[in-house]
Amino acid sequence: MKNLQKKTSVKDITIQIVIFVAEIILFASQLYCTRINLHGEIFGMAITASGINGIISQVIILLIIWMYVFVPNSKKLSFALAIFYWLNALMGLVASHSLMPLPGFVIAVGLLMILGIISGYKTRVRKDEVDLEHMAYTDYLTDLPNRRALLQELDRLFAERKAGKNIEDFALVRMEIENFKSINDMLGHDKGDNILQQLSKALMQNKNENCYLARMDGAEFAMIVHNYGSKEAIGLEMEKIAVLMQNVISLTEKKVFAKADFGVAFSDDECDTVALMSRSDIAMSHSRSSAGHVCFFNREMIESLRREAEVNAMIREALKNNTFFVMYQPQFDTKTKKLRGFEALARMRDKNGVIVSPGLFIPAAEKSDLIIDIDRWIFRNALEAFKPLVKNKDTDMTLSVNMSGMHISSDSFVDDINRIVEQVGFPRKNLELEVTESVLIDSLDDVTSKLLELRKGGIRIALDDFGTGYSSLSYLKSLPIDLLKIDKAFVDNIAHRGEEVDFINAIISLGHIMHFSVISEGVEKDDQLEILKQLDCDYIQGFIWGKPLAFDDAKSIIEYR
Ligand code: C2E
Ligand code: CA
Ligand code: CA
Repeated sequence: MKNLQKKTSVKDITIQIVIFVAEIILFASQLYCTRINLHGEIFGMAITASGINGIISQVIILLIIWMYVFVPNSKKLSFALAIFYWLNALMGLVASHSLMPLPGFVIAVGLLMILGIISGYKTRVRKDEVDLEHMAYTDYLTDLPNRRALLQELDRLFAERKAGKNIEDFALVRMEIENFKSINDMLGHDKGDNILQQLSKALMQNKNENCYLARMDGAEFAMIVHNYGSKEAIGLEMEKIAVLMQNVISLTEKKVFAKADFGVAFSDDECDTVALMSRSDIAMSHSRSSAGHVCFFNREMIESLRREAEVNAMIREALKNNTFFVMYQPQFDTKTKKLRGFEALARMRDKNGVIVSPGLFIPAAEKSDLIIDIDRWIFRNALEAFKPLVKNKDTDMTLSVNMSGMHISSDSFVDDINRIVEQVGFPRKNLELEVTESVLIDSLDDVTSKLLELRKGGIRIALDDFGTGYSSLSYLKSLPIDLLKIDKAFVDNIAHRGEEVDFINAIISLGHIMHFSVISEGVEKDDQLEILKQLDCDYIQGFIWGKPLAFDDAKSIIEYR
């Protein structure tokens, strides 16, 4: 926090000396006036020594009050002069053996009282200023320093360093509970606030005198760490804090899974507050999209941000120019090779007409709302293209469309799906939505109720990339799903690794016990297909029987069958 005490400037000291000297001269001239017998006249008005004495007294009083009010840090001098003035009046009163000097004495007492009142007022104003200052630099919920205080502390450190003070390199750590919004939505804001207070308490207790801890906003904290030792040491410490933060949350609310992310940046000679904040921001956003907890800033991250911005611009352009298109990958019954349906897969052309892989643009789009626009575009276009095929033939063929976590979490998700399905007039029994596990973890209840609503309307739900996330029996049981999609990563190794076979066998049995169908993705080879047949996997999707196809090719497969 800033120091509110104003510093005494050379100008203030000069004013104090001038006033002090003026007062001494005035006192001396007052004394002189009482000694001489002055009688005269100016403009017809009589001048007496006591009259001049009175004028000098008033000038003395005004000067003392003026100095106290307007000259910083002049309290002691003002009071000293006022007491001197009072003593002078007292001595005059005692020495005169009359009541003549009494008014002067009363005025001297009045002066002391006025100074006392001003002093009380100044103290109150100062206290209000201190309170306001405290509020401006302190987080209301946790009482920790806030973002402004942290920035000020960084400014101070960089300024001292620039001024040649011995400030060693330090680290700025940004830390955040990733899915705190869904915790708030699920438990309510009061409970959310309570969790934040518990978190800040735990972080305070854990930190030592080398750390300056602040709450930025929401579930984001930041820490300046001095004498951090080494990158490895700080990494280990942050891993410990990640566990601590997750424990605080799961102790408060057992149902909640929280992931703590850390972005670390180190100060160097080139950086200042803005640069260090932005470096730690970049590290933090990398940490969010990685499986681990802690990410350290490095220069390549700036390059990947630049690439991401380029891809985002490309996506916006493609949405505007309609250069997205859909490929359809067939899915088959494992035993009979009967066509089950198709998965719609997004494709994009850049401005030169070159096809960009979804592996590049989907992850970039998932970091912003752009993925929702892509989902909607693919959904509407795939439904429009396939409607005549499924309607005219009255088949039970399924069209599966991928739904991103961000889209599902949005408030408009169910309405979006219903609206587009109605507008296109696509039969719901032929429609399947693919969702991934990660979206369920973030907000299980919310997603479950949305999917349940859509499923009641007749749309089927597939759980995509199964096995790569937090696969847990407990949530699987409560989910409204029809199909488990085993991720390609497990299928890749089944022909060579016994434990992968056991794993897939377990998933298939589990899926069947729960009355789900099971499909394996990414089947490329005969030996993989054979094993999947033996394990009683219901369906397969993979290059072995069909790569993603352009619409006309997909159409001819349907018509040929
Ligand atoms: P996904 O949903 O797991 O889709 C399956 C991916 O595996 C597709 O990649 C498909 O081409 C590929 N694949 C299928 N069989 C084989 C195989 O036998 N071998 C190999 N090597 N690959 C196979 P694609 O089209 O590149 O899509 C990648 C991911 O992009 C998709 O993974 C999905 O997560 C995402 N994606 C694609 N379209 C959309 C969309 O419209 N919306 C959203 N949100 N995500 C989409
Ligand atoms: Ca999929
Ligand atoms: Ca998949």
